[in-house]
Amino acid sequence: MRVYNFSAGPACLPEAVLKEAQKDLLDYKDSGMSVMEMSHRSPEFEAIIAKTEKDLRTLMDIPDDYSVLFLQGGASLQFSMAPMNLMNKYKRAFYVLTGAFAKNAIAEAKKEGEVVVVASSEDKTFTYIPELNAGMFEGDADYAHITQNNTIFGTRFTKLPDTSGLPLVADLSSMILSETVNVRDYGLIYAGAQKNIGPSGVTVVIIRNDLLERSSDKLSKMLSYKVQAENGSMYNTPPTFAVYIAGLVFADLLAKGGVKAMQRINEKKAAMLYDQIDGSSLFKGTAVKKDRSLMNVTFITGSEETDKAFIAAAKQQGVVGIKGHRSVGGMRASIYNAMPLEGVQKLIDVMKEFERKA
Ligand code: PMP
Repeated sequence: MRVYNFSAGPACLPEAVLKEAQKDLLDYKDSGMSVMEMSHRSPEFEAIIAKTEKDLRTLMDIPDDYSVLFLQGGASLQFSMAPMNLMNKYKRAFYVLTGAFAKNAIAEAKKEGEVVVVASSEDKTFTYIPELNAGMFEGDADYAHITQNNTIFGTRFTKLPDTSGLPLVADLSSMILSETVNVRDYGLIYAGAQKNIGPSGVTVVIIRNDLLERSSDKLSKMLSYKVQAENGSMYNTPPTFAVYIAGLVFADLLAKGGVKAMQRINEKKAAMLYDQIDGSSLFKGTAVKKDRSLMNVTFITGSEETDKAFIAAAKQQGVVGIKGHRSVGGMRASIYNAMPLEGVQKLIDVMKEFERKA
């Protein structure tokens, strides 16, 4: 029996995608082999990666002067690659500290140059997004970095900062494809796949082409955006099966009406769940209302014991993966694109029943 999986990532995938992958597992389109067994230089795989990129370009309306890369190493490698490639003129960058992954990004960037943390929400355990203004981003720097959705703390930027003309580098790992974004507002977008894209193992990078010129020839080739772009993400063997599944997810999203349609459903799902939390006398949301994430809904009861009992009761009813991140505890329901409305309704029903019995 399949469960409603609210895990923060790897996370649930659309059932239609899993079924299609299953259908093609032994023999992909009469090739006589699985995509897993196929040369990345074969015409079949070349077609898969080309269509995967094309569909992502359509979904996000990616302009022609941006490159799309399918890399490995997770979003965490991008914490290093972005500064390694881009921090080369002033050796200085601005970062906004809004959570654990922003902190990791900052730590890696510091190895490449000077990091100026322009604002932080650490004073209140990252429960909000700090107010930002253009003045904070003035001065010599190579780029400005944000984590647009904070997976652990359940917050998101509802508007992008004015970076005084600096290229904006953004970690969209836990919100890519969940709501519309204007790619032109960014110099570089990166996202690990295992939330809204597909299985772990592939990381999507979208980079404005003029920034590719910043990559030094001294960089290890695998770490160079320029080399990766020049080779169409095939400088070495790409994570072929992960790219293939991502392609199936993109096609599925297009068939469902694209990102705008997903956003409408995501807003509805999030509103249902936050309404339940706000109307409850047992559960309490942890993020400041105006900065609440559409994807990661964090809440607590105030008692570790009761949290534990709720998580156990939910699991018994097929609602799994709602334990909060180990660093903060409580509950977190990740309601990515592939979580159906019925799953959110089921979680709400479980919350109601638990509260009634409490
Ligand atoms: N950034 C964000 C916002 C994340 O949520 C995560 C993973 N949960 C990461 C970065 C790290 O991703 P990875 O495990 O792919 O390196």
